[in-house]
Amino acid sequence: AAATLATSFSENSSATAIIVPSEHDALHVSYRQLTRDILEFQSKLAQLGIKHADAVSIALPNSYEFIVAFLATSYQRAIAAPLNPAYKQSEFEFYIEDLSSSVVLVPRGAYAKNGPAVKSARKFQAAIAECYLDGSRPVLQVKEKGKLAGAQAQRVSQAHPGDVALVLHTSGTTGRPKAVPLTHRNLTRTMQNIQNTYELTTSDRTMLVMPLFHVHGLLAGFLAPLRAAGSVVVPGAFSARSFWRDFITHKANWYTAVPTMHQILLRNPPPSPKPQIRFIRSCSSPLSPKIFSELEATYEAPVLEAYAMTEAAHQMTSNPLPHRGKRKPGSVGVGQGVEVKILDDQGDEVPQGVAGEISIRGENVTSGYINNEKANKEAFTKGGFFRTGDQGKKDEDGYVIITGRIKELINRGGEKISPIELDHIISTSPEVSEAVSFAIPSELYGQEVGVAVVPKPGQNVTEDNITKFIASKTAKFKIPSRVWILKEIPKTATGKIQRRKVAESLLAKDL
Ligand code: ATP
Ligand code: MG
Repeated sequence: AAATLATSFSENSSATAIIVPSEHDALHVSYRQLTRDILEFQSKLAQLGIKHADAVSIALPNSYEFIVAFLATSYQRAIAAPLNPAYKQSEFEFYIEDLSSSVVLVPRGAYAKNGPAVKSARKFQAAIAECYLDGSRPVLQVKEKGKLAGAQAQRVSQAHPGDVALVLHTSGTTGRPKAVPLTHRNLTRTMQNIQNTYELTTSDRTMLVMPLFHVHGLLAGFLAPLRAAGSVVVPGAFSARSFWRDFITHKANWYTAVPTMHQILLRNPPPSPKPQIRFIRSCSSPLSPKIFSELEATYEAPVLEAYAMTEAAHQMTSNPLPHRGKRKPGSVGVGQGVEVKILDDQGDEVPQGVAGEISIRGENVTSGYINNEKANKEAFTKGGFFRTGDQGKKDEDGYVIITGRIKELINRGGEKISPIELDHIISTSPEVSEAVSFAIPSELYGQEVGVAVVPKPGQNVTEDNITKFIASKTAKFKIPSRVWILKEIPKTATGKIQRRKVAESLLAKDL
C-alpha cells in the first residue's frame, strides 16, 4: 500500500493533475510536470537548509505554488504547516512560535510590504521566502535566512510512512487551538478512505473551493483526488460567479464545501444548461435537512454529508453514494475505513439509539497533540479509541447522528438539550434563514436556552413569532428563554459557529 505522499500518485503520467483557471490562459499541469516542479522546489528547500522534521509554514493562498511547496516539503521529510494568509499579526505570531517554523513562505510582494507574516517570521528568526509562478514555473526566492543562516544543504532522502508530514491546529472552536501532527501514514489512509467512499477515479474533476490550509480542502479537495489520478481545478479566491464559470469551463463534476459555502452557491445558482454534477459533499459543520433538500433539488445531484476533524486527518464518516446505500439528511452517515463507537463516560459502548461520545479508531487518526500531555490523556481510551468531544448516537442502520459538542450541550436543570437539533427545528421556519442555539446562564436552572436567528430577506420576524414557532415544534423545556434577531451570525474562517462566543457577545450587550 502507498504509505507516503510521494508514492501515492502516479509521478510519470501525462494526465492532467492541476488546472489553474484564469481569464486568459488556464494553466494545465500534468502529473509528470508536477513531479518535476516538486523535485526542483525540493532542492531549493534543501539548499536553504531545510531538513528532516523542520517546520515549513506555508502562508500562501490556494494556488499551484502552494501545492508544489506543500508536496516538496513532504518529499524533503520536512513538516508542512499551512497558515491562513489572511491571519493578523497576533495569529501569525502564535502559530509561528508554536510550530518553531524554520521558514515562512509568503506570496510575491509580501516581503516589500513587510506584512504581518513577514514581521512575525522575523520575530521568531524563521527564514522568509517568497513563492510565486514565473510563467508556469514555481519559484522560491529566499529573502532572509533567519536561523537557517549558515545551515548546510541537506542531501535529499526519502520520507518514511511514520514521518510527520503535516501539522495543523484545530479550529479553536471550543478553546485554544491544539497542534495536531499527521504522518504520511495518517494522510495516505484518509486519501484512500475518501477515494473509496466516493469512488474517485482518473475521470473525476474536482473543483477545489475550500482553503488548502485546513484538512477539508487539503485532504478531500486535493490529496484524495490526486491519489485517484484525477484532475483538480484550483481557483484562487472564492467567488460564487467565477465558481460556476470555472466549474463549467473546466468540466468539474463534484465539489466539497462547508454548509455556508453551499448556501452562498444556492443563492447564485449555475446558469443553464446546468452542469452535470456526480455528487456534492458537505462537511465540517452541520448541514440542515432543509439546505440538503434545496441542494439536491437545485443541482439534481446526491448530496453526501460527511463528518471530519483535524485529529482524524479529516474524514471519519460519510453518507454513501446512491448505489451503495441510503443517504439520510441530518445524519453524517457511517464510518468510512474508520471504526466508530459511541462511548459513555467510563469508556463503555452505549446501546444503539443512546447518545454518548463519538469515538473513533483508524490508521488516519493522529497519535496525539504536540506538547499537550493532559489533552492526550483525556483523548484516548484504553482500547485506543480517540474521543472526538462530539456527542452523538447511532440509528437503527448504524448511521451516526451528531447532537452537539459535549462542551456546548445546553444543560437546563439536568435536561440535556442538543443545540444542533434545535437549530435544525428553527431552520424549518419559512421565515428563518439561519439559527444558532446556545446556553445562557440561569440562576434557577443553571443554564437556559438562548437562540439567535437571521430572518430571510424581506421577512419581518419578531422574538415572539420565533418563540411561538419553536413552542409548536418541541417539548416545553427546549423553548428558549431569550431570542435575538440578528443580521448575521459570526463564524470562524472554516465556517463554524462558536456558540459560546455568540452567547457571550450577545449577553455582553445587555450590560
Ligand atoms: P477545536 O477542537 O479547537 O475546538 P474544531 O473542533 O472546530 O476546533 P476542527 O478539527 O476543524 O476543529 O473541526 C472538527 C469538528 O467539526 C468536529 O469535532 C465536529 O464538532 C465538527 N464537525 C465536522 N463535521 C461536521 C458535520 N458534518 N456536522 C456537525 N459537526 C461537524
Ligand atoms: Mg475539535
